[in-house]
Amino acid sequence: MYAPPNIESGPGAVEKLRDVPGRVLATTMEIPWRLLRAQCAWRPHHVHMVTDMDLSTLEAIETALPPCDVIVGVGGGSCCDTAKYLAWKRGCRMILVPTIVSVDAPLTNMIAVRVDKAVRYVGDIWPKELLIDHDLIRKAPVELNRAGAADIASIHTALYDWRLAHDLRGEAYDPGVAKLAGECLDDLDRNAKEVFNVSPKGIDTIVDLFRREVEFCARIGTSRPEEGSEHLVAYNLEHITRRHFVHGDLVALGIFLMTRLQQNKHAWVVDLMDRLGLRYRVPDLAKDEVERGLVTLKEFTHKTNLFFSVVDVRDVSAEFIQKSIAVLYQRA
Ligand SMILES: [Zn+2]
Repeated sequence: MYAPPNIESGPGAVEKLRDVPGRVLATTMEIPWRLLRAQCAWRPHHVHMVTDMDLSTLEAIETALPPCDVIVGVGGGSCCDTAKYLAWKRGCRMILVPTIVSVDAPLTNMIAVRVDKAVRYVGDIWPKELLIDHDLIRKAPVELNRAGAADIASIHTALYDWRLAHDLRGEAYDPGVAKLAGECLDDLDRNAKEVFNVSPKGIDTIVDLFRREVEFCARIGTSRPEEGSEHLVAYNLEHITRRHFVHGDLVALGIFLMTRLQQNKHAWVVDLMDRLGLRYRVPDLAKDEVERGLVTLKEFTHKTNLFFSVVDVRDVSAEFIQKSIAVLYQRA
């Protein structure tokens, strides 16, 4: 069952680890571990370097790693999710130390694993203890820390699709939760400059917005308030390119394109994304790939049947595609 996490944030928050009793096992990767070691004298009993998120790998390390009382996840999504998997399996205490705020993994109960290269969600463990160390997080590349804001900005497109699904398909809709989601978007807008600068307030804003988003989505049992057609664009681009991108970059591109299809305050959201420093012109994604992503969007949506959205009701015409791509790149 959902329980609100205890979040301790501030410069040097990781020093709290020195007071943790018992045998401690840390899950991390080379870069975050080096940064943490340079900043803090705390050393766990055992350090495990995360290699991949294949379910078979996780099952193997769960058996092979030494017994412990506490698991500490230090790093990005995979490090936190590995810690979540082990703590879920072992039923032990868990502390998460995200060194980057690009994804909401440190706040969710599910663990994203890979089976045959496809993402699958397993487990159920609500993180209870988070240490948000501003010094540590500010050492990560700024674009990656800013990218986390895309999964909050996506509320703008997602709320439109959710309402549409309610009106046209009778899907359950919660006006109270939609209002809470709208407030998250307002707070993001108000703090855009802090997020762009990855200031302590900007970091705390992103973490707090993730926390709120995860809470109300858990309460209604759907991610509708933050996941709409912009995510379909992101999933389809991953599917057709078979490459890995920064999630927030693809979602930002999805927001750019789908607000045009929705005719939903496109100029406003592009200005917001500019102020947040979101990279909707995704690095390493070619123009013809964006085009292919739009040409195949309806087909992908029907095939995967993930959820109803603007893609089901509007024509993604050749004219729409050409114009959207022209607008996307004319600003470069
Ligand atoms: Zn997302």
